[in-house]
This record gives sequence, C-alpha cells and structure tokens, in this order.
Amino acid sequence: MWKKVLGRALAVAIGVWMLALIVPQPAPPAWGNVWWWRNQLILLTGVSAWALMSLIMVLAVRPAWLEKPLAGLDKSYRLHKWAGIGAIVLALLHYGLQLSRSLLADWVGRPVRTPRADWWLNTFRHLAEEVGEWAVWFLAAMLVITLWQRFPYHVWRYLHKLLAVVYLVLAFHAVVLTPPAWWWQPAGVLVGVCTLVGVLCAVRSLAGAIGRSRRHTARVVSVSPQGAGVLEVACQVSPASAWQHTAGQFAFVTLGRAEGAHPFTLLNADQGDGVLRFAIKALGDHTRQLPQHVGVGQQVGIEGPYGCFDFRSDSAPEQVWVAAGIGATPFMAWLESLQSTPALAPRVHLHYCVRHAGEAVFAERMAALCARLPSVTLEVHHSDDAGPVTPAALLAGTSPSASVWFCGPQGFAEAVRRGMEQLGRPSARFHQELFQMR
Ligand SMILES: Cc1cc2nc3c(=O)[nH]c(=O)nc-3n(C[C@H](O)[C@H](O)[C@H](O)COP(=O)(O)OP(=O)(O)OC[C@H]3O[C@@H](n4cnc5c(N)ncnc54)[C@H](O)[C@@H]3O)c2cc1C
Repeated sequence: MWKKVLGRALAVAIGVWMLALIVPQPAPPAWGNVWWWRNQLILLTGVSAWALMSLIMVLAVRPAWLEKPLAGLDKSYRLHKWAGIGAIVLALLHYGLQLSRSLLADWVGRPVRTPRADWWLNTFRHLAEEVGEWAVWFLAAMLVITLWQRFPYHVWRYLHKLLAVVYLVLAFHAVVLTPPAWWWQPAGVLVGVCTLVGVLCAVRSLAGAIGRSRRHTARVVSVSPQGAGVLEVACQVSPASAWQHTAGQFAFVTLGRAEGAHPFTLLNADQGDGVLRFAIKALGDHTRQLPQHVGVGQQVGIEGPYGCFDFRSDSAPEQVWVAAGIGATPFMAWLESLQSTPALAPRVHLHYCVRHAGEAVFAERMAALCARLPSVTLEVHHSDDAGPVTPAALLAGTSPSASVWFCGPQGFAEAVRRGMEQLGRPSARFHQELFQMR
C-alpha cells in the first residue's frame, strides 16, 4: 500500500514537471544543453520532494478520513516514514545539483547568463536559497537519527516536532523559487495546493491540535505485573460515555507529561463502561521504568481510538491468527468481543507464539476465552523447545483461501509473509498490525 501511494505521488510530480516542458515557456527547452538539464533536474527533484513533504504533513495530523483507505494509523505512519526518507533523499539530490555548479563549469564551461524575468518574488531569492540550505542540513541530520534506531525516542520526538517549522521555512523556499511560468500550469497548481494544505497542517501541528477531538482524561484504576516484563494497567475514562472502541484498536497513552504519548493496543473489548486495559511490555526506556512511575489514582491522557486491525473486515470464512509475544493484545480483545456472540466467530486457528512458558502471560486467559468459542482452536508454541514456528506449520491444514492476521516482531512477520508466497498464498491475504512507528 505505502509503495503504491508513494509511487503515485512521485508520478504526479514527474507528470506536472513533464507538462511544464511541453507548455510554451519564455525560453524554449535546450535539449542539448547540460546547464538546461541541470536546471530541469533541480526543478524535478524540488517538486517531487515538495509533494512528498506535503504528504508527510497531511499524514502527521492523523486525519480520521485517511484511516480506512490507508488501513489504519500504524500503516499511515509507515507511509509517513518512507515518504520522509524519500523526500529527504530527493531534497539532498536537489541540493547536490545546486552544489554541482563549479564542478560542471570546470567540465563544460560556464553557462550563458540569461537575464531573469521580472517577478516580484525575486527580491527574496537569496534568502529563500539560504534558508533552503539550512533546512536540508537539518533534514539530513533527521534522516540519520531516524534510521539509527538506538537514538533515544524521547529526544527524537522533540526534534521531529521541529519538522513542522522546517516545513514552513521550506514553503517559503518553494514558493519563492518556483519558476514564474509554472504558476499558470499544472506544476504551479501542484506546488500551490501542496503548500496551502501542508502549511495548514504544519500550523495545526505547532498549535498542538493534532488528535484534539480524540483526547480523553482517565484515571488508573489498577496496575498488575503479569510476569515476563508485562505490566497490565487499567484506566477509567470519564465520562465513560465519551469512549467507544472496536476490538483490535489502539490508543496513545500519556503516563507522564515529559515522556509524551505512547501507542498501546486495547487489551479489552469495549463494554460501554469506559474501562480501558493495556498490557505493556518493557521494551525500552519508558516502558522499563513504568512499574516505578505508574500508580492507582494517577491521571492519564488517552488519545484514540485509532487503527483498523479488525478480522471482521475480512470476508474469509477461515482465518489464521498469529499472536507473537506482546502482539497477543489485539487478539485478546477480539476473543473478548466474541464472547457474547460466539456464532459470529469465523473458523480460526489461533497460534500464540512465545519463547517459553514463562513468557506466555496470556495463555491461561486466552484458553479460557477460546473455550467458549467452538470455532476457534488455540495452539501455544514455545520456540525455545521446538524452534521457531514455520509458516508451513502455521498454515498446515488450512484452505488456500484462509487469511492470516498477524501481530508480533517484524522479522517474524516478514518470514510468514514470504512463507505464504512460497506456498502460493497471495500476500494480499496477510494482514498485520505494526507495533513500530519509527
Ligand atoms: C499500533 C501500536 C500498538 C502497540 N501496542 C502495544 C501493546 O499493546 N503493548 C506493548 O507493550 N507495546 C505496544 N506497542 C509498542 C509500544 O508502543 C512501544 O514498545 C513503546 O512505545 C516503547 O517505548 P519505550 O520508550 O519504552 O521504548 P524506546 O526504546 O524509547 O522505543 C523503542 C521503539 O518504540 C517505538 N516508540 C517509542 N515511543 C513511541 C511513541 N511515543 N510513539 C510511537 N512509537 C514509539 C519506537 O519505534 C522506538 O524506536 C504498540 C505500538 C504500536 C505502534
């Protein structure tokens, strides 16, 4: 999905650039001139980077209407991440082409200077070029620390927020340096629409308005360690009627102002009482310190619900559910949601994959929930004893039309997806909830 959206955004940018070559210009194209090509490539990389940056800004404000088409906020963040990487690479190419001037002059000689057309924005050209340079250096640094997974998330989060300011700076750069002739063509329309939408989103982000309509206050009502580094935290939203979620969805939970919001899947199905339960595994700085910092009565910020991980959206009558480690949380909510209507459950082969019995913190509850669902069979796998469970074992005895619903480590997800392909099962039948956004 993310590849398709990125491909389309780039195709639109390339399309409008090509149209700009066809539409009559003050100076006709000089196909054989290296300087003309350099200039065109600067424009092409510039407009492509700008289209992707504006897409990033739109995705950053978490628009509710985009959740379904993009199959959930977790997928939308994956698109956001790859659009970001693409935009920064294009921006670096754009800047690199600018810097190639003296190198090119040594090689093919200096360009023939043509006087610039009179244009009111030309007064700001020098400033726009200068701020563009600074912004590109910031973006390059952001790319490095984003890909360097060990960079602390809480620091990265603040730097990442600054990108809205960088976007506004680049909006000035883009508008001032867009060729005047472009404004009367599709290329100018694209730059204009991207800038307008992106600036509105950047302002919304800087005003702290992202997700405002989905924010709730809640209090911690219980905290219980489950073993294997998993802490179960239950919260009560007030008023209870303000909250509604579908099993499989997640929420951003703020347990400390300085730390900010972290996404966690709702462990329970919605009973209409405003009670939200989360099972939180100690996977990093914040989650490791949580048992010392969270207590009954504490106020919690909840933003959500988000996500579209819902087996009901799939018409396949037979499904394989793969719950690996802490990735069991959405399946627990699904099982709970089916308790009052067992007849609505599809035929399910549920695989709970853990390293050893001590890590299987949901095994007992999962077995009890499955016991009331005749169409659901449960198998618990201990990889320390039997080795990693293979895709063939997960799919054994299922019909070719069975779909797979997966939540767990990314490496395991890739292995299952590849395994499905090797077994001739279309990867479109593989559905995954991503537990990683950066
Ligand atoms: C949709 C979704 C549902 C999730 N559900 C659960 C769940 O039910 N139970 C559970 O234990 N874990 C869940 N996670 C993972 C959980 O959010 C991270 O483990 C947790 O945020 C790590 O925080 P940390 O500061 O302890 O770790 P760090 O070491 O600081 O971060 C490790 C990684 O976690 C991710 N992360 C950290 N903070 C955030 C944040 N604020 N927003 C987005 N990503 C972040 C980043 O990829 C980061 O690189 C879910 C994640 C997502 C995206």
